[in-house]
Amino acid sequence: MSNVLEQVPGQAAAMAFLAGASLRPHHAYLFAGPEGSGKSLAARAFVAALLCPQGGCGECRACRLALKDHHPNEFVIEPEGRDIHVDTIREEVWQPASRTAPEPGRKVFVIREADRLSPAAADTLLKVLEEPPADAVFLLMSARAHELPDTVLSRCHTVMFTALSEAFVVEQLTGEGVPEVRAKLAGRLAGGNLGRARRLAVSPDGLSFRDAAQEAIALAAVGPAGALGAADVVLVAAAGYKKNLKAELESELAPFLDEKGRPEDAYRGAIKRIEQRFTRKEKRAERDYVDWVLLGVSSLLRDRIAQAVAGAEAPLMNPDLIPDSTLTVQRAAAGLAGIEEARAALSEDFNLNLRLVLEQAFLRLPTAA
Ligand SMILES: [Zn+2]
Repeated sequence: MSNVLEQVPGQAAAMAFLAGASLRPHHAYLFAGPEGSGKSLAARAFVAALLCPQGGCGECRACRLALKDHHPNEFVIEPEGRDIHVDTIREEVWQPASRTAPEPGRKVFVIREADRLSPAAADTLLKVLEEPPADAVFLLMSARAHELPDTVLSRCHTVMFTALSEAFVVEQLTGEGVPEVRAKLAGRLAGGNLGRARRLAVSPDGLSFRDAAQEAIALAAVGPAGALGAADVVLVAAAGYKKNLKAELESELAPFLDEKGRPEDAYRGAIKRIEQRFTRKEKRAERDYVDWVLLGVSSLLRDRIAQAVAGAEAPLMNPDLIPDSTLTVQRAAAGLAGIEEARAALSEDFNLNLRLVLEQAFLRLPTAA
């Protein structure tokens, strides 16, 4: 098996299949499986195996670029807001599919969260899949594959990914050099979602969202004015997170610039795509961060309830913190309901006013007795 595919953890069956597939690829694959089961990791490895002259050595330039989603022949498509729009499929799939690859070799199109294709976008994609260019491989990814149109599904070979256990996620992170306490905490908070756990464990912002969550609970305990202040604290932290992303973009682009900081000609297309992806990420940044804070508040309230019910032996989501024993279970549960409603609302509607959502949720948090 090629090096890159061997290194993907926890999905032996899928990876063995992909090792065979990389030698004689079909024109379209669907990676189906729950969030955090390692689909992204597997996709990067598979793309490397498809673009590397040695079939995925893991060492060469093609592999290194592909493992970061930066290979000029790789096109990554993601939702903007709620949907993947038809214009996106037209410009980033249909047009480049019919053109010569930027570098010699195959073109690979990776469509993340493919269940979010708008009906028109799915139709356009279907046209490409019905008459695929010989040098192109399409890779669709979805945690809700049943929501894809049957016409699209029938054009793809499905590769199934199964959920990973929390223990596996923790082992994986510690193996990558994350200290054990932090790995456990990230694994818990991410609910066994490896990608999310890794981001929580290694991002420079790290667990700042949980500090914001603790502060929000403390402020809300003071009463309504505190709850409104807590919303402010979270929004300021979210804006800070968005600002830090800028630095991330600069470091991603650095390898494509010459000594004078200008883009090298061969990489113009790749740079443009990295910037487009970044813009999408930036648009989502504040709501992503707000959701992490809500998750943090939710985990702290759950710990309070768990400890009140099961005592000192209760398994905690935040094993490094002592739950606040001044909160009664009833009040923690009422607050938790408000937080979960806010998270559900945010995932349903991408245009909600974040301040309003936070204020409503925090006003339901317990006040000091
Ligand atoms: Zn290679």
